[in-house]
Amino acid sequence: MEKNNWPAKLLAWFDENRRELPWRESHPRNPYHVWISEIMLQQTRTETVREYFRRWMEQFPTIKDLAQASEEQVLRAWQGLGYYSRARNLHKAARQIMVEWAGRMPAEKKALAALPGIGPYTVGAILSMAFGQPVPAVDGNLLRVLARLYGVDEDISGTAGKKTITELAEKALPEGRPGDFNEAMMDLGAEICIPKHPRCGQCPVQESCTAWQQNRTDSLPVKKAKPIQKEFAAACGIFCTEGRYLLHKRPSKGMLASMWEFPMALDHDGEKARQDLETQLETAAGPAVWQHKHVFTHQIWHMKAYLLEKISCPEGEWAYFTPAEWEKIPLAGPHAKLAAWLKKTVDSKEKV
Ligand code: SF4
Repeated sequence: MEKNNWPAKLLAWFDENRRELPWRESHPRNPYHVWISEIMLQQTRTETVREYFRRWMEQFPTIKDLAQASEEQVLRAWQGLGYYSRARNLHKAARQIMVEWAGRMPAEKKALAALPGIGPYTVGAILSMAFGQPVPAVDGNLLRVLARLYGVDEDISGTAGKKTITELAEKALPEGRPGDFNEAMMDLGAEICIPKHPRCGQCPVQESCTAWQQNRTDSLPVKKAKPIQKEFAAACGIFCTEGRYLLHKRPSKGMLASMWEFPMALDHDGEKARQDLETQLETAAGPAVWQHKHVFTHQIWHMKAYLLEKISCPEGEWAYFTPAEWEKIPLAGPHAKLAAWLKKTVDSKEKV
């Protein structure tokens, strides 16, 4: 089996088939664009990121603009992408780049890795794509493709498996085109060597592929089973006075930190969650008027919203907002769904 010439075949395929994406438009590639797009693409579909990226660059066209924005503006621009620590880290890193690097993205591994939220994958992406340095960008796509190509039997979610594949990627990097190689691996992983039922018949590196030759494309890569998501009932309260709705700001640490939400209680049991909501706010909940299932990576929330007649706020940060004002504050993703429904209801003048 010929392994050594597959990167050249991959690049030839990439030259003909590369995906046109907004963050790939500048030549040479803008390091700020590479950075923002790669952070957005973590856990998010490319099609979704296109629009977020476009809006982000309108609002924060440079690292300086991002550094000068308020946290609320940054979280608001990120709203809907989830994993808000990514947005907070982008903001912090932009400020750090202004202070330590005069607003220019450093082109050095150690300096990049010292910035908040920039891990080995993003370091590899920025260095190879924007600065032409021979560093692999090892993400889920690259791990999967190389595990199949080389028939790696190690668990790719473990440290040893990742190390094996990183070394293979380092050896495979073609001279002079490390950025294109990393992008080609991303495109191959996204379009051809997909997680289930890879399209081997269309694959430019099929002849070099161990998994294909050994009929093991379904069993590679080896991956430890994901932990089961915990399920919760989320009882949310809708309390409105003079057209303004009561919201609570979540603590500055932990899940959905500093995002705004409707009053809420979580429990494994739906009835208990509703009772907790009533106890916390010293109120009685009316019938549920809205429900929604929200899926996070580690949790699933079965949300129900109840109308509240009166409330007494416990400790914490609480404030009233009109539906128009919701547009300007960062709402926690699941609560943005409730807000959207409420706004629609208010707009259509239905009595809630
Ligand atoms: Fe993936 Fe199939 Fe190509 Fe192998 S031949 S790299 S399994 S798409």
